[in-house]
Amino acid sequence: MTKPINNNVIQATKFWYLKSSEEVISDLNSSKKGLSESVAKQKLETDGPNTIAQEEKGRMLKILFRNFNSILIYVLLMASLISLFADHLLEFIVIMVIIFATGISGFVQEYNAGKALDALSKLTVKYVYVLRDGVKKKIKSQDLVVGDLVFFNRGIIVPADIRIFEANNLSVNESILTGESVLKYKKSDILTEQDIFITEQHNMLFSGTSITNGHGFGMVVSTGLDSEIGKISTTLKKIGDKPSPLQKKIDSMGKKLSLIVLFICVFLFIILISRGVSIFDTLLLVSAVAVSGIPECFPLALTMSLTNGVKRMAKNNALIKDLNSVETLGTCTVICTDKTGTLTENKMVAEKIYFSHGLEVTSEGKEYEPTGKFKFKDKKYNKEKLISYLSFFKCCVLCNNAETQLKENEWTLFGEPTEGAILTLAKSAGFEEQALRENNPRIFEIPFDPFDKYMLTINEDNSKKTKTRVANIKGAAEKILSKCTFIRTSTGKTTKIKKSDIERITKQIYHYTNQTYRVLAIASKTIHKKTPFKSKKDKDKLVSSFVFEGLIAIDDPVRLEVFKSIEECKTANVKVIMITGDHKDTAMSVGKKLGLISTPKELVLEGIELDKMTDDELDDIISHVSIFSRTTPDHKFRIVNSLQRKGEIVAMTGDGVNDAPALKTADIGVAMGKSGTDVAREASNMVLMDDNFSTIVNAIKEGRTIYSNIRRFVYYLLTGNMTEVFLILITALLGLLTPLTAIMILFINVVTSTLPAMALSIEPTHPKVMNQTPRNAKEGLLSKYVLLKIVSLVPILFIGTLALFLWEINIAGMDLNKARTMAFAVLILFELFHTFNSRSLHSTIFNKTFFNNKYIFIAVGLSVVLTLLTIHTAVGRMIFGTTFLTGFEWLSILLISSSVVVVSELIKALVNSELREQHSLNFKSRN
Ligand code: ADP
Ligand code: MG
Repeated sequence: MTKPINNNVIQATKFWYLKSSEEVISDLNSSKKGLSESVAKQKLETDGPNTIAQEEKGRMLKILFRNFNSILIYVLLMASLISLFADHLLEFIVIMVIIFATGISGFVQEYNAGKALDALSKLTVKYVYVLRDGVKKKIKSQDLVVGDLVFFNRGIIVPADIRIFEANNLSVNESILTGESVLKYKKSDILTEQDIFITEQHNMLFSGTSITNGHGFGMVVSTGLDSEIGKISTTLKKIGDKPSPLQKKIDSMGKKLSLIVLFICVFLFIILISRGVSIFDTLLLVSAVAVSGIPECFPLALTMSLTNGVKRMAKNNALIKDLNSVETLGTCTVICTDKTGTLTENKMVAEKIYFSHGLEVTSEGKEYEPTGKFKFKDKKYNKEKLISYLSFFKCCVLCNNAETQLKENEWTLFGEPTEGAILTLAKSAGFEEQALRENNPRIFEIPFDPFDKYMLTINEDNSKKTKTRVANIKGAAEKILSKCTFIRTSTGKTTKIKKSDIERITKQIYHYTNQTYRVLAIASKTIHKKTPFKSKKDKDKLVSSFVFEGLIAIDDPVRLEVFKSIEECKTANVKVIMITGDHKDTAMSVGKKLGLISTPKELVLEGIELDKMTDDELDDIISHVSIFSRTTPDHKFRIVNSLQRKGEIVAMTGDGVNDAPALKTADIGVAMGKSGTDVAREASNMVLMDDNFSTIVNAIKEGRTIYSNIRRFVYYLLTGNMTEVFLILITALLGLLTPLTAIMILFINVVTSTLPAMALSIEPTHPKVMNQTPRNAKEGLLSKYVLLKIVSLVPILFIGTLALFLWEINIAGMDLNKARTMAFAVLILFELFHTFNSRSLHSTIFNKTFFNNKYIFIAVGLSVVLTLLTIHTAVGRMIFGTTFLTGFEWLSILLISSSVVVVSELIKALVNSELREQHSLNFKSRN
């Protein structure tokens, strides 16, 4: 027996499982029609929302503390104390200002980023269906209150603790509460045994558990923190909680750099002291070098670009659940996508009926509007005649869980689009769902599941006193056909199905599937009232010897924008694989329409073929397969694994309960926000708010952009910082005067190089990101190429600054302050020019995108203004020890510093032609 998680559980539940539905209803002051809207509103106010998320207390303080608890701040503090003890009050004040500015700006940005992520996580609200005032309504699950009558079905995460009133084939996974992942069957009967654990309360559903099959309804008995899960859950996973590999990479790079810098600092200290420099000047200079060497703003810029990317993705309908996936998206090499709803619109309209004896009728209608007109061979078809196909249409309505309702002049669907289309067809033909369902109550159901691909119901006929019942079945056309041994004739009689019938119908199925239609078959049979259906053996017998009634061809238009996205994937060298439960030919014709299969080499593999293959055999051919058809969810799992064995980084879409393992295994699990199940959403890393394939491609684009942005600012900052460290170190080694004062170095680091770095971290997507091969996931931030680029530019900055400094002193005969001011100004401008270099690592910066990031210009402009203030105001000159510069001097500074752009452009032009070559080689190797 399973142990209870929590002993309080037994006392706390009010033994709802011992009560009848009537007692529960009266205990909770509810009714059979649910609560009234006004009572529900009141209850929501008094009981609070149905969530278990709690505002994290003291988060602000924590972030504040974290931003002041950094090496940078400590080094600065040390510098400020040194200044204080040496009676350099001015330096002390400046450094203190810098400390507060750094700490506070870090805090503000991190806090904002956190808030943005919180806001995003609120976007993933769950909805539930309830009955209020007798009307079925869709409400946010956080608005559920005790006493609400709720509906539940396969795939939802139970929103509150519920006493089940009606259960059809209901099974749940309660592992979140019990830790063990076995299926539990649930019923509505009253239990009699007192004091039982929640694991044995078979007529209760508990918040947080997931419904793996069936459907039903019941009454909410506790919500939010009062629910069982609310009582045991103290921690909740939030986005941004776990550091991503990228954050780890940046951290480890930062640590390594800090160590090197620390080493240099000690070395510098010894040299300067031995040269007779005062201890105050030495310490201050050493701390300044430490500040420029320690890449403190890396983590912050990283957080900013990640959150920014996540925000941008959310605006484009892709909700990322962990920052980690943002990075993985950039490395994705294969997208495995569902067909229905992702490549297509999921706007299903049943357009053709092919009755068993060969009559084809066309229906013209709109989504879920039961007013469709019928045609026969392009002429109007009198729908009165359809009354004679009673058994066909009865099956359409009875073997169907969808409901359509007219709401505010629009027909809305409760249920699955496939079923909605079939129901609408029957309603257009004049069959009323309510009357039919009331007169033919369902006494048994085998719900649709993606493994068997059919749905079956047994219905009683109340209108006549017979000893029979009717079994109705609908599902994947060829599967249903194989279960038929009889066929309905044109006069409504049943007769044995002939080989020629099967051939004729099969031909018709191909005819439809080749035109992208989704084809379902309808069949029924009369069974005796005593025919058993409970055991597995009974069921097998039940699902055979049907009477074939006809075919329905459902149109589901392809999404127009997908065509372009698939083209984009081709140039980006991201392979797209369609995985669908639908018929091979439907899948192929959709694939052809979207450009998914363009060469004859690409394979289409069926689920049963896949079953016959070993993993090795699958691995051998998987890179040639573009479509998997008639698959079951466990095939998805095999496909992901095989692709991963081939070294691919896989994004996999899914919507059903059984897709969860594949979604979890994939590098990026992608769930559907509109049509998918809660379970799939829970198992995924990304949720598509519009269910659209193109959204995945856009997210990959963003993922790539973010990584490039991080590279951009790493490239930018390291170039400047290395120059500063070398300037101080080498002049000290050579026994020269130091070209920059400690305060100047601090200013450059904290002000003029930080602003552009931040702007680089939010560079918008460059048009070429989708022309490159996916980045190798194993590649570090500092690839050899980037390192080479840094190493080739540092000498320019270094020599330019030092040479100007030495020229001023030794040749122009200027004083030290003037020379330092020149060095200060030229180094700042070098870095500001270099900002533009950093925008594009591979190709020239002078292209169409030059003006597309206004923040670059704002940051550079601001830095220029602040620099001018340090030189051209009396206060600035007093603080920084600078002197006034003439127009001619500024001109020479501009000329020297702009050389960094010229050199970088030259390198790009010369080295890059080779690199591009390599890229295109990589690209060709896949095709
Ligand atoms: P996909 O979502 O990949 O198109 P599904 O697993 O939803 O595939 O459906 C597979 C097949 O099962 C469909 O081609 C259709 O023939 C059948 N089918 C789909 N939905 C239902 C349903 N509600 N009842 C009966 N059969 C269905
Ligand atoms: Mg589906």
